[in-house]
Amino acid sequence: MADVYLDIQKSWGRRTKASWLSSLGAGLIVTLCPCWLITNWIALEYYGGSLRLTAQAALKQGIVEFAAQHAPQPTFRASIGYLTWVTVQALLYNYLPGPLSYGQMTPAGNLLKYTTNGLLAWTVTHALYGATSLVGILDPAIIARNWEALLVTVNVYGIILALFAQIKAYVAPSHPLDRKFTGSMIFDYFCGIELNPRIGDRWDFKLFYNGRPGIIAWTLIDLSWMAYQYQTFGFVTKSMLLVTFFHFLYVLDFFYNEDWYLRTIDITHDHFGFNLAWGDTAFLPNLYTLQVQYLGRYPVHLTTPSAFLILAIGLSGYTLFRSCNHQKDLVRSTNGTATIWGKPAEYIRCTYSTTDGKTHQSLLITSGWWGFSRHANYLADLMLSGAMCATCGFTHFLPWSYFFFMGTLLLHRLRRDEKRCAMKYGKFWSLYTQKVQYKLLPGVW
Ligand code: NDP
Repeated sequence: MADVYLDIQKSWGRRTKASWLSSLGAGLIVTLCPCWLITNWIALEYYGGSLRLTAQAALKQGIVEFAAQHAPQPTFRASIGYLTWVTVQALLYNYLPGPLSYGQMTPAGNLLKYTTNGLLAWTVTHALYGATSLVGILDPAIIARNWEALLVTVNVYGIILALFAQIKAYVAPSHPLDRKFTGSMIFDYFCGIELNPRIGDRWDFKLFYNGRPGIIAWTLIDLSWMAYQYQTFGFVTKSMLLVTFFHFLYVLDFFYNEDWYLRTIDITHDHFGFNLAWGDTAFLPNLYTLQVQYLGRYPVHLTTPSAFLILAIGLSGYTLFRSCNHQKDLVRSTNGTATIWGKPAEYIRCTYSTTDGKTHQSLLITSGWWGFSRHANYLADLMLSGAMCATCGFTHFLPWSYFFFMGTLLLHRLRRDEKRCAMKYGKFWSLYTQKVQYKLLPGVW
């Protein structure tokens, strides 16, 4: 067992050592990220969406007094509402039918099964929201109107969920050989210990929390802020319609291709800690919806040409995003027999091993979009994110912080992924990087 443990620690999965600097970084992220969300809310609620005015007021008043005066307050109603929402989503996740899908081989050699019923859960949830709003049982702006209290609830929920995941990893791990310990409790809390924590055989924390309280909430929040804009001003702007359209496209794409999502880094590589637990429950519903929170309060009137320009950039980004991700999945799922742009796909056939000592085969595609750059799908995401932010105009930085966050996240991910793939595929990865030289932007980097 000791040898197996050492092998696991050395495998191509997540890192197994955290320096004091990494632990400090993790501690700072855990502390500062909830403050970031709260600052955004204060700026939107009290300072017209201006981070500069918010910072000036905080400096003038003193941070402690400023925080005491502006801190968002929880309500019992919002907390119960949120717990009911998570429970309903858990029931839909558990009981709705859906196709059986498979993830990716884990470093310890586990191949997990999932029921991918996300599209049905999204449809049922939105149909319920629409029907209850139409007959007047539900105020469609309910989420927007309770935003302050919900902000507190989701932060507390996410922090506790991450703690629960950390304890579970020690006392009841789902796949013990896929755990990673770094020796730093803070780093482990942030990055997670278990790769795919589950309750029982199928109830998967990552798929549930990312998809349901995270991504299903995304479009509901959009609709709620749209209703808020309408109730407050008596109209819905083109900018609000446009950003909501982009979000719907992205979210529906996610659920339509939920099977594909099982083979992305979130599921195959990231362990479940604060990063995903708090990230899915608190961060995603807040930061990813900044544009509608802004537009709901401060409408932006786009000219028709600028609306079309933004639409064109967003749709091009989405098309590239879907096409890249589809090419990779198609070539791998057909074991290289597929065609790309009318020609047989090109790839490098490679092998890698798992800690159970077995050797497996895989393909690294070198044609289509994947022949131009090793992460063209990230570039596509950035185009789409930029278009989403552009709907808010250029007056304030705050709604654009989503774009800069995505840029940072994807560049960091790119670096992590390249390191991991080099460990996993060794000489095959070197061959691949010689063949496809650009990391992100063809001809530049
Ligand atoms: P990828 O889907 O690109 O997955 C990377 C993995 O794919 C690698 O670890 C490797 O895994 C495999 N791979 C790498 N190169 C090749 C190749 N040439 N041929 C075949 N397989 C290859 O990245 P992500 O999972 O990070 O992202 C998926 C999508 O989701 C992207 O479009 C991204 O922009 C988006 N995204 C969106 C986020 C959001 O918050 N909106 C957050 C993160 C991502 P292996 O070989 O082990 O299978």
